[in-house]
Amino acid sequence: RADTKAILLEINKLAAQYYYVQLKNEQGAHALAYLKNRELSDDTIRAFGLGYSNKYSNDLYQYLRSKGYQSEMLLKAGLVSMDERQGVYDKFWNRVMFPIMDANSRVIGFGGRVMGDGKPKYLNSPETIIFDKSRNLYGLNRARSTKKPYFLLCEGYMDVISLHQAGFTNAVASLGTALTAGHASLIKRYVQEVYLTYDSDEAGTKAALRAVPILKDVGITARIIRMEPYKDPDEFIKNLGAEAFEERIGKARNGFMFSLEVLEKDYDLHTPEGKTDFMREAARRLTEFDEEIERKNYIEAVAAAYHVGNEDLQKLVARMAIQAG
Ligand code: ATP
Ligand code: MN
Ligand code: MN
Ligand code: MN
Repeated sequence: RADTKAILLEINKLAAQYYYVQLKNEQGAHALAYLKNRELSDDTIRAFGLGYSNKYSNDLYQYLRSKGYQSEMLLKAGLVSMDERQGVYDKFWNRVMFPIMDANSRVIGFGGRVMGDGKPKYLNSPETIIFDKSRNLYGLNRARSTKKPYFLLCEGYMDVISLHQAGFTNAVASLGTALTAGHASLIKRYVQEVYLTYDSDEAGTKAALRAVPILKDVGITARIIRMEPYKDPDEFIKNLGAEAFEERIGKARNGFMFSLEVLEKDYDLHTPEGKTDFMREAARRLTEFDEEIERKNYIEAVAAAYHVGNEDLQKLVARMAIQAG
């Protein structure tokens, strides 16, 4: 089994090198153009080892067989599949390839993106004995040497890569899987704070709110950065640049204040009725802080943020607490 792991690591490394060469070959020209069009530099492409899986159905398979690896191992690595009709064939076909590395820069799997609107947009390696999705973070091999006391935690490959290229070399991603306790303790080995930069859509908002307590459980302070009006950090940086992103980091909110910002959408804060209803719901949520000091501090913060009297809000929270029993 220890041997199998070593072999799977070798296979993944060779595959990454193979995809990288394809990208620089004539047949990968359109893939390279795709990455350039997404404004990635040659340095970035090299640093992240991006590649291209070409159009022939079992190109990588042939290559790895020629290097002496058995089909069984290639299947175990998740790089090829097998069925009765087609025999053995490559899993990734005509995609831009993102090697996924562990903290020690060993390739443990891949993500592959279609160039265009095909489905699925991303195809990822399956979990294998060397690729545990809930215990690895994309970009960690580079982010781990950051001098900053926090990580930027985002959703996707392109977010991490864009952020690194823009100088935010502390960005990592959990790649489509929800943040787990395993991810949180992995992060805790390097930093005590996380700024969440998930997508600004509903899924991303929900995922960010769910990530906060998971991080808190291992002692990590989490704050949430808003990407509006853009979809994700990649698009934000492209449109507004690194300085604007830095400003957004400065404006990040903790989980509670962020959840109130999300709640604002359901009320019309410009009318007295709307604002009153909103403040009632905020007060109800404030009752959930059991510790008196913490509750007081949050009441102060909410009163200041929404321009209501601190004492008025205290009274409202007290009344809500009684109502809640
Ligand atoms: P891009 O900018 O290239 O369109 P993205 O990272 O913004 O991609 P999202 O749809 O926001 O794409 O998804 C976030 C991440 O979730 C992706 O980077 C990828 O890791 C994962 N993901 C997205 N779609 C799929 C899919 N169909 N199957 C598996 N994983 C996916
Ligand atoms: Mn998304
Ligand atoms: Mn994107
Ligand atoms: Mn996205």
